[in-house]
Amino acid sequence: MGGALTAGTSSRTAPVHDPALGEVTKHVRLGNATDLDAAVAAATEAFATWGRTSIARRQQVMFGFREILNNRRDELAAILTSEHGKVLSDAAGEIARGLEVVEFACGSPHLSKGAHSLEVATDVDVYSLKEPLGVVGVITPFNFPAMVPLWFVPIAIATGNTVVLKPSEKDPSSSNWIAEAFAEAGLPPGVLNVVHGDKEAVDALLTHPDVSSISFVGSTPIARYVYETGTAHGKRVQALGGAKNHMLVLPDADLDLVADAAVNAGFGSAGERCMAVSVVVAVDPIGDDLIDRITDRMGKLVTGDGRRACDMGPLITREHRDKVAGYLDVAEADGASVVVDGRAVEADGAADGFWLGPTLVDHVPTTSKVYTDEIFGPVLSVVRVATYEEGVDLVNGGPYGNGTAIFTHDGGAARRFVRDAQVGMVGVNVPIPVPVAYHSFGGWKQSLFGDAKAYGPQGVDFFTREKAVTSRWMDPSHGGINLGFPRND
Ligand code: NAD
Repeated sequence: MGGALTAGTSSRTAPVHDPALGEVTKHVRLGNATDLDAAVAAATEAFATWGRTSIARRQQVMFGFREILNNRRDELAAILTSEHGKVLSDAAGEIARGLEVVEFACGSPHLSKGAHSLEVATDVDVYSLKEPLGVVGVITPFNFPAMVPLWFVPIAIATGNTVVLKPSEKDPSSSNWIAEAFAEAGLPPGVLNVVHGDKEAVDALLTHPDVSSISFVGSTPIARYVYETGTAHGKRVQALGGAKNHMLVLPDADLDLVADAAVNAGFGSAGERCMAVSVVVAVDPIGDDLIDRITDRMGKLVTGDGRRACDMGPLITREHRDKVAGYLDVAEADGASVVVDGRAVEADGAADGFWLGPTLVDHVPTTSKVYTDEIFGPVLSVVRVATYEEGVDLVNGGPYGNGTAIFTHDGGAARRFVRDAQVGMVGVNVPIPVPVAYHSFGGWKQSLFGDAKAYGPQGVDFFTREKAVTSRWMDPSHGGINLGFPRND
């Protein structure tokens, strides 16, 4: 923080694992309110200058950071794999999506331009400015330790704010890498500060009087808490929560395309993605055929150490692995059929790794917790329905509204689905419809608390506030008193 690495004042720590080895490789210190206060003080001091630094200079820093990230992405990918467990190719994909936002931020001055109305009354002009908020807080989850910080930090900085970033304590090192790379790119000390920690640091950030806004990504219960606490303390808050994404497959769909998409979107990153497909909704009569094609592809997947040529890595912790595996007992007890059981996986990695192989569960009752809970692991459920309408009711029936997709050859049905879905991000023959950086990312319902999505135009709006200026310059200048209500003529 403040441009220097400090140990902070807290004595509490948390273990950081290499999930493929199943070993604790380091400990992260969990910052307390004093540490958070020091970071906010550094950010407040830096804002006095950074908030008035020219757009050209801010852009230079962003371009410099973009070059570093682009040239040294392998370094960051190795960090992601060693702490999160995702395979290296997936880590590279995560960084590529983060890089897109950095590139968007290089051009964000265009979107933060104001508007100007000339001569709204005699000698009077009105113009609007988009000014930075000040010190902004960013709190991120374990599952995208580089991409999610990069959804917010570049746009916040490019628009003139200073940042306190509180990354997940489960895989904290990528945020340090990002902060160091920004410093190398010429970002002044104090503009980006990383405070590691857990609830204690989060609470200090949510209640700090000098913090203007909070951008949060994580599970729904914590997102709701962050939204309620942050707004109660006068902050602008965007809090992105959990998900349970359905993929609706109509009988006319290309079932090979569907099976590929379901496997990629269900098991990529071991299902630890908020845009993972968790439920395939098969409209009769294609269910059996689809199960066969998905099962066939799953048989070819290799689960193992992300540093080897594997398709899928381990889960983040042993506790999480066991929790996810526990849903298979629930599935069996609830009468679903476990078609492929990931508990039997033979992983290409250390015996103690947090392994659970790709799992397929058919005929999942919609009353089962396997269907209703966000499992956040490599468990793909299949539900059969008789009609499109029944499928849409499932898509819209749950508490979440993050992502969904339809697979069909019927343009009219696809178009109808786009309108029918009560979901923030919709794919048509695309299983993980994460919008590109110049659109905005975010769900509906309990997948997003607050009014602003992440990045894109809404990201710029979130990190700026508008000021409207009405100015009169009389030429020649003259005075005089008029007590009448101002008129625009
Ligand atoms: P999490 O909610 O446990 O943690 C997120 C952040 O909140 C972390 O920084 C953590 O330290 C902090 N935190 C945890 N418990 C807290 C508490 N009691 N009080 C205050 N702060 C607390 O989430 P996670 O397990 O790290 O990430 C997985 C979740 O994130 C999933 O639910 C996933 O769907 C969601 N997610 C959502 C999106 C999205 O865009 N909607 C994107 C990625 C992940």
